[in-house]
Amino acid sequence: MTTVMAGWLLTACSSTPIEPLAPTAPAAVDAAPTGAPIGAPTSTPAPTPPNNPTSTPPAPTSTPAPTEPPATVVALKCDGLTPEQTEGPYYTPNTPERTSLIEAGMTGTKLILTGYVLDANCRPIANAWLDFWQADAVGEYDNAGYVMRGHQFTDADGRYQLETVLPGLYPGRTRHIHVKVQAPGGPVLTSQIYFPGEAANAGDQIFDPALIAEVETTADGLRGTFNFVINPK
Ligand code: FE
Repeated sequence: MTTVMAGWLLTACSSTPIEPLAPTAPAAVDAAPTGAPIGAPTSTPAPTPPNNPTSTPPAPTSTPAPTEPPATVVALKCDGLTPEQTEGPYYTPNTPERTSLIEAGMTGTKLILTGYVLDANCRPIANAWLDFWQADAVGEYDNAGYVMRGHQFTDADGRYQLETVLPGLYPGRTRHIHVKVQAPGGPVLTSQIYFPGEAANAGDQIFDPALIAEVETTADGLRGTFNFVINPK
């Protein structure tokens, strides 16, 4: 554990990652239909570029090959705490514990959001509490029950995964997911997660570009990544 974590931390916090991630094109989330059944293809996957036989292979380096591939190579940003944002008027406490907010009969574009909860030194925080709430695919909150609301805890590696639908727009706001995050025994961070390429981002008074998730389109919907950096105590 210690050895793995040390290597992971080196990767995570180094200014020269050993394996840069391929750039991810911002998903055209505005173009995603919201009325399609979940699971239905929402867009045509981008074709895989063919191998270019004329391209020059990367020059070999003197670095010995690792004996095993890194378990996870992620672009972590630990250069500042995740900004706090207003809770807004629609928070409901005591949500059910669940990693999927999708329920039978829901429509929308499936979104899987993953990431880490980290401290300011890039150390993962296990068992951190995350409470998500959002509008449904047509921009409506359930203020009587717990639709599109749920909490979960990070695993031993500080990771979370939320399965949900792309939240719809509602008047006055750009597309967003609300969240509260708390390390065990620590202060609660209340914030929001935003999406790239949204026309309404620029006109939203609450929007913060530091809170944009990385989003890519897959055959199964959208995949987003967002890492939280919080005060553990
Ligand atoms: Fe909201």
